[in-house]
Amino acid sequence: DFTHFGFETVKTDEKTEKVHQVFKDVAEKYDLMNDAMSMGIHRLWKDIFLERLYPTLGTKLLDVAGGTGDIAFRYINYINNLNKSNQDAYSKKSSVTILDINQHMLNVGMERAEKLGHISNETLDVEWVCGNAEELPLESDQFTAYTIAFGIRNVTHIDKALREAYRVLKPGGRFMCLEFSHIENNETLQWLYDQYSFQVIPPMGQILANQWQPYQYLVESIRKFPKKLEFKSMIEEAGFKQVTYENLTLGICAIHSGFKL
Ligand code: SAM
Repeated sequence: DFTHFGFETVKTDEKTEKVHQVFKDVAEKYDLMNDAMSMGIHRLWKDIFLERLYPTLGTKLLDVAGGTGDIAFRYINYINNLNKSNQDAYSKKSSVTILDINQHMLNVGMERAEKLGHISNETLDVEWVCGNAEELPLESDQFTAYTIAFGIRNVTHIDKALREAYRVLKPGGRFMCLEFSHIENNETLQWLYDQYSFQVIPPMGQILANQWQPYQYLVESIRKFPKKLEFKSMIEEAGFKQVTYENLTLGICAIHSGFKL
């Protein structure tokens, strides 16, 4: 039960602690690095993710591994705009709970939320929770949507996190995951992607954030994450139905979706 991690090989039980350290180290530079490493494309992927979620007034969203709030903020904007154009808004209160295992990431997110005015109002509740995706400190059957963006790859026991997602969703609720994935049948692109991942990303981390290892970890964790069909089966094993996936940017990323029926 060993996993390769950065330069070392560690027991998977230690992975949670290592991941915690990685995100503690990168929290302050997290947003800058996301833009630099993906050349801004992560914003587009997140926009598409939210479009696919297609929230309506009254949605109760749990955004797990919510980090510095990128998914939640898009959702808040979306819901606030819906509310503005809807007379009946007050009768359907929406909510978002942003959960992350790392208080440092949440702190950066909460500061951003204050600055952007992304706080609770009459029609929307915004809540920040520190907790583990594998053991959600939340009651069962209460959310209508569960999102996890670039988070599940960091979780030590993915099957546990998926079962927890299932538990906290209401019947009819939707699970959606945005995650790096694997390029399919394109050797040239694969070669370019490998060069970029191994030759550019860690040095960029060193230059912009003065850190090499978290960015080496990032590249390795992407490679180890299950392929799309395998991940689809894992979601089904947790109980979800109508599980589908969609490739983004030639499969570099994927959105998986499933329902608790
Ligand atoms: N969702 C955000 C985004 O798309 O920008 C943040 C993604 S960031 C790459 C991954 C996040 O997962 C980090 O904030 C990290 O603390 C969190 N994380 C890692 N393991 C976790 C766990 N077991 N439970 C909850 N959050 C976790």
